[in-house]
Amino acid sequence: MSYSDFIKECQENVLSGVGISSDSAAKLFEIPKEYIKELANAANQITREFNGNKVDVEQLNNIKKNSCSEDCSFCGQSAFFDTGIESYQLPSPTEVVSRAQKAKDEGAKSYCLVAAWREPSPKDFSKVCTIIEEVNNKVGISVECSLGFLTYDQAKKLKELNVKRYNHNLETAKSKFAEICTTHTYEDRLRTLQIARDAGLELCTGGIIGLGETQEQRLELVLALAAIYPEEITINILVPVPGTPLELQTPLEKSEIIRMFSVIRFLLPESVIKISGGRETNLDDSGEELLQSGANGIITSGYLTLGGNDADQDIKMIKKIGLEV
Ligand code: SF4
Repeated sequence: MSYSDFIKECQENVLSGVGISSDSAAKLFEIPKEYIKELANAANQITREFNGNKVDVEQLNNIKKNSCSEDCSFCGQSAFFDTGIESYQLPSPTEVVSRAQKAKDEGAKSYCLVAAWREPSPKDFSKVCTIIEEVNNKVGISVECSLGFLTYDQAKKLKELNVKRYNHNLETAKSKFAEICTTHTYEDRLRTLQIARDAGLELCTGGIIGLGETQEQRLELVLALAAIYPEEITINILVPVPGTPLELQTPLEKSEIIRMFSVIRFLLPESVIKISGGRETNLDDSGEELLQSGANGIITSGYLTLGGNDADQDIKMIKKIGLEV
């Protein structure tokens, strides 16, 4: 069967609800570069069919920055590396409320509170709960959280506070994980996702590509994500941070980035697939093509340690390609 026919067959299987097997996903990872555009177009049609034209626009608030006890080798916020990135503890609820209001006014549909720590201490967790209550009462935007490892009781509490979705990334393939982090394990991460799901939270999980993983390892990550079937997938593209072990990492080719998003769409037709950090730096179009290759979400107005495009600029981009916010 030709590559074009194989892409079409996979697309029909997804559109008819049959889905594709892991073997087919592996074959999509082997399709030569000159067929990537066809793969991307097929993924785009799947996105439109299952998700319409809406792009999920989210803003982040890094509520506890830097000095993290973990040693993830891509991360500028690890206390193991001297990156010169500023460090701060939890802000006041009033400060977060005003930033959440600004995000809502700028068109964001969700607002994710992110903390750079292994797990919240009981005292910090209680402060975060107060922040969430204040944002709920005063802003009314969908609140999501990324607070590291959680106990079941903490996850339950977040659910009671109407937190919609919990983010906890797998980061990379299981076979690559020990190379990029030694202070916790891949299984620790899977466990947290299970705790969040058991507590009734929706899941957002994904990883970061361009860490020096092989194409097989990117497939491994995609299949692991498909097995979890989260409501949202978030994929970052490495921006090497000076001072980290990956500061000299070679960037991924654009075709491999597009392949990643497209194959995820074939496996997870209904999920939000969000382009996270790295789109402005690694792509010459800020993600315009990816939003037509399987992705249907972006993070706007900057990331945890990096700036990004303004919300206005991103909303203009979305409308320019005929999509909606
Ligand atoms: S990725 Fe998360 S857990 Fe790892 S060092 Fe950075 S903030 Fe800490």
